[in-house]
Amino acid sequence: MAQAPLFSKIGRLAELAFFPSFCKICGRLLEKPGERILCRDCLERIELSRSPKCPFCGKLYEGAGESHACGACAASPPSFSRHRSAGRYRGVLKDVLLLLKYGKCRPLAPILGKAIHESLRRDGELWRDVDLIVPVPLYKKRRRERGFNQSADIARDIGRRTGIPVAHKVLQKIRSTPPQTSLERRDRIENVCGAYAVGRKRAVEGRIVLLVDDVYTTGSTLGECARVLRGAGVAEVRAVTVAQA
Ligand SMILES: [Zn+2]
Ligand SMILES: [Zn+2]
Repeated sequence: MAQAPLFSKIGRLAELAFFPSFCKICGRLLEKPGERILCRDCLERIELSRSPKCPFCGKLYEGAGESHACGACAASPPSFSRHRSAGRYRGVLKDVLLLLKYGKCRPLAPILGKAIHESLRRDGELWRDVDLIVPVPLYKKRRRERGFNQSADIARDIGRRTGIPVAHKVLQKIRSTPPQTSLERRDRIENVCGAYAVGRKRAVEGRIVLLVDDVYTTGSTLGECARVLRGAGVAEVRAVTVAQA
């Protein structure tokens, strides 16, 4: 028994010698116990936001001060009642998102699910009575090309952490759209208009749904998904994203 730690140490050294792995962000050799894909230092540099924000769309403000409604929400409230991001789209959080999405490094999804959960779990209004978690879907061709939907992977992880069921087929993307990143705000709203549909109305009628997406920019994707869900009889739509640009 006393030799077990020694053996595991030798095993770990042998593994390092024969299968060295390096942090996908900083390139450092992963040698500490439990380190996989990313080193512990990079993980600790993930920045979760505590900034003041718009209580509705969740837009984060720079600096200190009180949370207050943003101009857009004061003029016309979004079709979701509440949205929150774990942090800003920068630094390690952005690196992890890009590695998941374009590096197809799916084991990173739980790191982002954890970021959302840790940063937002104390927001009672966000989680109260949520019946279903629904990921923002990809169009089937895009999903096939990528092999997975990053938002669905993150949603699955949040479901595991909260015990809230995740519904993957409730919301569908029925039309391919050019990437939102290439468009201005007004074009983004037009771009996603009519691009989503509810596949299983009976599963969502009268329910409170929490939408999950990776990045929040102008909110037009979440706004359109929420509008379609509300049209299908959903009582209330809330939303979480990993990061906002
Ligand atoms: Zn690192
Ligand atoms: Zn707002």
